[in-house]
Amino acid sequence: MALLKAKIVIAPLGEADLAMVNRLAGTLGGLFNRGVDILKGMRMPTEAYNETRSQYYARIILSKLERVKANNRETIIGICEEDLYLPNAHYVLGYADDLSSTAVISLFHFRQDFYGLPEDDTKMYPRLYKEVVRQMSRLYSIPPCSNPVCVNFNSDEMMDIDDKSTRMCDVCLQKLQKVYIR
Ligand SMILES: [Zn+2]
Repeated sequence: MALLKAKIVIAPLGEADLAMVNRLAGTLGGLFNRGVDILKGMRMPTEAYNETRSQYYARIILSKLERVKANNRETIIGICEEDLYLPNAHYVLGYADDLSSTAVISLFHFRQDFYGLPEDDTKMYPRLYKEVVRQMSRLYSIPPCSNPVCVNFNSDEMMDIDDKSTRMCDVCLQKLQKVYIR
């Protein structure tokens, strides 16, 4: 009997753009060869909010996400609109913890209007997708890639994100094959 593969669960947080979430759900399953569910919307945890910084602490969000997991093997990805931080970083685009198989990705810095430019979904969705794949690679123990064109390249600057492709390089794809048989 084939082992039932653990699902990817996407959790829209707060006012997260549901069109983006639906689009993500439609593409992630194929890449990681797993079923994808979308959870009913969750509130942004108020205890994660830091008033001094006007940002949310990514680690507290992950601990909240961990609690809604149906089982240990499930991977849960939170998508939010709010700005995220870690104590050692001004902001983070996304953050993943492989021990709890949880990740959170913010649309905050991906929006064009953040840079004073008109909103443009054709730019925003690829940014979100690339960041989600990069964070999910961490969850599946695929190390960061040094190839700047690979979707798994560690890019924290918007220009690097826009420059890299939406595909994995051959080296990362090979590592992804091992994820398929897990
Ligand atoms: Zn790569």
